[in-house]
Amino acid sequence: MEHTACPTRIIVGWLMPILNLDAMKRWIVIIAASGMLATLNAEIIDYHQHLYSPEAGARSSPGSKGIDADYLIAQLDAAGIKRAVVLSVAYSLSNPNKPPVPNEYAHVMAENNWTSAQVAKYPSRLLGFCSVNPLRPYALEEIARCANDPNLRTGLKLHFGNSDVNVDNPDHLARVRRVFRAANEHHMAIIVHMHANVDHNRPYGAKEARILLEQLLPEAPDVVVQIAHLAGAGGYDDATDAALSVFVKAIERKDPRTKNVYFDVCGIAIPGLWEKKANLLVERLRQIGTGRLLYGSDAPTADNLPTDTLKRWHSVPLTQEEFREIDNNVEPYLRDWLSGAESQR
Ligand SMILES: [Zn+2]
Repeated sequence: MEHTACPTRIIVGWLMPILNLDAMKRWIVIIAASGMLATLNAEIIDYHQHLYSPEAGARSSPGSKGIDADYLIAQLDAAGIKRAVVLSVAYSLSNPNKPPVPNEYAHVMAENNWTSAQVAKYPSRLLGFCSVNPLRPYALEEIARCANDPNLRTGLKLHFGNSDVNVDNPDHLARVRRVFRAANEHHMAIIVHMHANVDHNRPYGAKEARILLEQLLPEAPDVVVQIAHLAGAGGYDDATDAALSVFVKAIERKDPRTKNVYFDVCGIAIPGLWEKKANLLVERLRQIGTGRLLYGSDAPTADNLPTDTLKRWHSVPLTQEEFREIDNNVEPYLRDWLSGAESQR
């Protein structure tokens, strides 16, 4: 009967191409290539990291040891994170709510330069961003200087909370508009922590988000604007939701001002600060869409190591597929750098 002879013939037939050496080589190449592709697709990118020089560290939570690139790389390795966007904390040397630093601009430059030299040690893994307090008279000068530094010219980090920027203040708004315009002219992406200062309870919500949408984004139409912490300042609360909803609605009505807008989810899943709003948070993330969402860990301080922050983020009730898409997103400013970085491996 046919079916008694068949199995052997099928197995032999199936083995033939494998026994053929050329075919075997072809198979090995195909398997290896798809494996490489899978690893490339599975690379987790951290879009919100920081390093601290000893000077900047002493003024903030890392302390006077600071956080250098060697330490960050070890922490990223432990978490299985391949690459990170490192945002200089030079703005923290001009925090108006902390004791002033004599000869401030020199120290701001020194911090940006230190960050540049640190990321240069790992050119295929760390991408640097310049930073400056946008209200300072030297802001435009520093942006132009950073635009000439190959390790910082990709983008500019602004921290409205730390710099105590109040976009409801016309003078502040005019200064920040100039900074957005300058970044656009230098083709520098902007990462903005737009939440107003928390310690001093500055006004923050839908009104301030509309100012960003209507008056700041139009000044930087050609570059990526990455809104940090989902428009919040850690956790997920009503003010953050009110601000984020302005962008969600704009995206839904295909407002052209949101064309290059992305959001990092850095610092959202802090235990105790988001769980009550879990359903709302997930709804907003899905309204925004995975293509605009980016993973971020924030600085690797003792209670915020990337292994832990990644685990916390993965406790948000999204699907595995959604996490995969968000964690591996390669957004425009990273694309060029990535192709350059690959050749340096
Ligand atoms: Zn940060």
